[in-house]
Amino acid sequence: MANLDELYREIILDHYRSPRNRGELPSPPALRVEGFNPLCGDEITLYLDVRDGVLVDIKVAGQGCSISQSSASLMSAAVKGRSLADVNAAVERFKRLMTVHESGPGAADDTEEVDLRALGELAALQGVVKFPVRIKCATLAWNTLVQGLADA
Ligand code: ZN
Repeated sequence: MANLDELYREIILDHYRSPRNRGELPSPPALRVEGFNPLCGDEITLYLDVRDGVLVDIKVAGQGCSISQSSASLMSAAVKGRSLADVNAAVERFKRLMTVHESGPGAADDTEEVDLRALGELAALQGVVKFPVRIKCATLAWNTLVQGLADA
């Protein structure tokens, strides 16, 4: 069996080198929302086309480290064309993945297993939780998405 860490690193590099859904949408009608991670200097701009409760299209622009940009690419691939209910479920799954190794109040308890299969390629980002300073890089695109959907 292939080394899982290596596989995950490959997925992250692949999304960094060939980002999915890269570009812009005319705004309006698309919603434009910006996110910034001052700790690392990562910038994300999302263009969201929401119609009848479905995230019909999503485009990603911005620049930053490999974690922030590959996470944005992975996120866009995971949520494009999905209902907002599915999008919110994906956000919840991802946030749980990013907190699973934390302890203390508010952290997911150990009985709550993260379903890596449901996460698909997003599971590649689970190694990030070992480096707390990079968690903000990985969650930037997701927090920006949440902010954009709240405005929708
Ligand atoms: Zn970063």
